[in-house]
Amino acid sequence: MRYRSTRGSLSANAPNFADILLAGLAPDGGLFMPESWPQIDAATLREWRALPYADLAAEVMAPFTAGAIDRDTLRTMARDAYGRFAHKAVVPLAEVEQDLYALELFHGPTLAFKDMAMQMLGRLFDHVLTQRDQRVTIVGATSGDTGSAAIEACRGRERLQVVILHPKGRTSDVQRRQMTTVQDDNILNIAVEGDFDTCQDIVKAMFADTSFRDEVSLSAVNSINWARIAAQIPYYVRSALALGAPDREISFAVPTGNFGNVLAAWAAKQMGLPIRQLCVGSNRNDILTRFLLTNDMSVRGVEPSLSPSMDIQVSSNFERLLFEMLDRDSERCGSIMREFRSSGRMNVPQDAWERIRTLFNGKTLNDEETSAAMRQFYAESQYLADPHTAIGLAAGRAFQEPGIPMIAAATAHPAKFPAAVHAATGLDAHLPPHLADLHSRPERYDSLSSELVTIQNAVRAHINR
Ligand SMILES: *Cc1c(COP(=O)(O)O)cnc(C)c1O
Repeated sequence: MRYRSTRGSLSANAPNFADILLAGLAPDGGLFMPESWPQIDAATLREWRALPYADLAAEVMAPFTAGAIDRDTLRTMARDAYGRFAHKAVVPLAEVEQDLYALELFHGPTLAFKDMAMQMLGRLFDHVLTQRDQRVTIVGATSGDTGSAAIEACRGRERLQVVILHPKGRTSDVQRRQMTTVQDDNILNIAVEGDFDTCQDIVKAMFADTSFRDEVSLSAVNSINWARIAAQIPYYVRSALALGAPDREISFAVPTGNFGNVLAAWAAKQMGLPIRQLCVGSNRNDILTRFLLTNDMSVRGVEPSLSPSMDIQVSSNFERLLFEMLDRDSERCGSIMREFRSSGRMNVPQDAWERIRTLFNGKTLNDEETSAAMRQFYAESQYLADPHTAIGLAAGRAFQEPGIPMIAAATAHPAKFPAAVHAATGLDAHLPPHLADLHSRPERYDSLSSELVTIQNAVRAHINR
């Protein structure tokens, strides 16, 4: 499989999976996309019903890594990665109401769905870097969950230096501590004055600074990295198969921030999974649902909410969907994205928007509605949902159709957001045993301003220490 940029054409020496894994962002500022969508036929899907999760994940990912990493190596990595999860099914489905399911993606080491991809990514990086005898510096911005998942997946791996920027004071205590209490030498945490978009912009600016990028061998694990999307496709396949696909249509609801997770669901549809609807749930930072409902993609300020991992205004992965909806016209895609960058408003052509609307729906929940949903799912179904999951479930319920199962991505464990869970339901969600002493572990992080040079110098100091 070869890859191309959403802002450029497929070149003669197009990169393969190992190349784009390390590069993250395309050199022209676009995002990498596979040159074509692998197709899975119905008979193959039926056979896959019998596979354990890790083996299924390897099958789904293999066409994307073809030419770089073989299926057996992938399978070994997947068994190792998902063998660490706290639930034997890895991604169990809970029936919350009739035909409304929670797909629990939070049984990994940091209790959020980011572990699903990141546990694979750490191993993929290690494999490729060992093969090439290279080292890289991974820089990432996090609204809370990406950082801890990346740190947990990369800690102690000697070929990887990891620098994670989080918006100071805007992550939950549990989220911050999951990052800052990791003592491995290859990990640096930076609390940045600003919000998540500030952090993400710094990361983008570091990549745009080519001399810095080369100096420290920058690499990214944000959801702009295609490898992450690829590793998130298998659980959509798994859950759909469990409820009768490919012999039946299934809908998904996904609480969304950077648009990565729901894009993986869309990719599953491209590959042949019979998906009927994709419902996007937002908190009050509702740029995506506003776009879906009214074709208004205009950036407003980020406001803190009960679901901090979705406190995002610029959903980077949307560019990938736009690219497809423009029939892969990379020139048009690039000019729309550059214009969006400078004006804060995206002019999505009406026909592209209409195509998006045939599959996607959106629902916004403010904090009160999120709390009410958490309370209601608990009262009526004894299902304790974290705020992100509650938004997913509520979005799914809003667009349910009779006889079509609606699967909502349950993206975080309730214990990751104990204050919001307590306020909504009066219940205390307890951390699992491996994190029980989190609040007494010592923290270590730098607090810095959002100036690019300040952060760059901190990265240099970290790798040259
Ligand atoms: C990251 C995250 C999201 C949003 O996922 P995207 O891929 O950024 O859309 C939702 N919920 C939780 C708990 C998350 O950590």
